[in-house]
Amino acid sequence: MEFWEQISSFVRVCPICYGKSDRHRILCPRCARFAEETRYRQWARYQNGIPILSLFEWTERAHNFFKAYASALKGGGPAPFYQTLAADLLTLRTQLRKPLEKTIRRPWVIVPAPGHVGGQRDHAEELAWQIAQLAGAKYLPCLERAYGGAQKKRNLAQRWSGSSIRIHERRKSELDGEMLYIFVDDVVTTGSTAAYAHISLGHPPHFEIWTLFNRPRLRALN
Ligand SMILES: [Zn+2]
Repeated sequence: MEFWEQISSFVRVCPICYGKSDRHRILCPRCARFAEETRYRQWARYQNGIPILSLFEWTERAHNFFKAYASALKGGGPAPFYQTLAADLLTLRTQLRKPLEKTIRRPWVIVPAPGHVGGQRDHAEELAWQIAQLAGAKYLPCLERAYGGAQKKRNLAQRWSGSSIRIHERRKSELDGEMLYIFVDDVVTTGSTAAYAHISLGHPPHFEIWTLFNRPRLRALN
């Protein structure tokens, strides 16, 4: 039994309101109902012709709620949480079969946002992995940050000067333009990470972005 499972078999606290939750859910029923109200029933948005599928709309009105929700997921947790979220994304996507029927029938490749070097799967990777498992699709963690772990040490100008994502050299041969590429991350904001991923993958014609949260408007930096 893993550490998280041990803990959650005793008690689980909602990461948002600290109310009691049960071991199968990350949010308490009250917070889960609140999140439910922000659920998408459609594509969250399109960006340069690329469709973005998200479960929840991260509104600025509920900023603190979603900030707490997203950081609770970043902290990891039992795989079943991610499995539920992955299943929700798949369900939503199949409900939106039209107008992209021709696309959805292609073989899928699930590409997570680049995570940390080595070690365990991070949150985006875990979500992507669960989607691939449930869909019987290929899981391809082929992207990496071009500057490795040094990102934090670079100043803003350096960070914005060019692509910060690249494909692992040894995985280039696995790319196939006939496939549907699904880029998976926890949050999409400006969409620049996904855009860099699209470029790094060689501009595949069939490309979608799947995330848990769509946060189109950013707060002013402070
Ligand atoms: Zn709660």
